Amino acid sequence: MKNDCVFCAIAAGEIPSFKIYEDDAVLAFLDINPFSLGHTLVIPKEHYPCLTETPDEVLSLILSRVKKVASHIEKTLPCDGFNILQNNGAAAGQTVGHIHFHIVPRMNGAQLSFESGKGDMEALKALAAKLHFEN
Ligand code: 5GP
Ligand code: ZN
Repeated sequence: MKNDCVFCAIAAGEIPSFKIYEDDAVLAFLDINPFSLGHTLVIPKEHYPCLTETPDEVLSLILSRVKKVASHIEKTLPCDGFNILQNNGAAAGQTVGHIHFHIVPRMNGAQLSFESGKGDMEALKALAAKLHFEN
């Protein structure tokens, strides 16, 4: 665990999050400032800064969980498709230095701006309750 890392703190339960899915190695939770309804972040519980510094076996595991969570979101929400986004470095828009994959649900015809909306905490809480699932 890295001391000043917000996602390490979320993984450790020190900062609350709207959890969708959790297992020994991976956590998925709603983005606090979503691009779209159901915008979810998938992280390894262990701290790795970015894609190139994450071991292959960890990446492989995260991606399998990204697939599992995205598939669940597709079935549970009104959702016609989704984008997977993964930013590396400040120049690419990475603001949290703990590797994460964004799952951004999309609807046919709905415009999307890849800029954070203002999260409504009550709505996120209700959505997390709807989307949460176990293995
Ligand atoms: P990045 O720009 O690094 O790819 O994405 C970081 C994402 O983390 C942003 O979309 C931002 O809204 C989200 N984020 C930052 N801090 C928190 C937090 O404390 N909780 C949650 N749930 N999301 C966060
Ligand atoms: Zn971290």
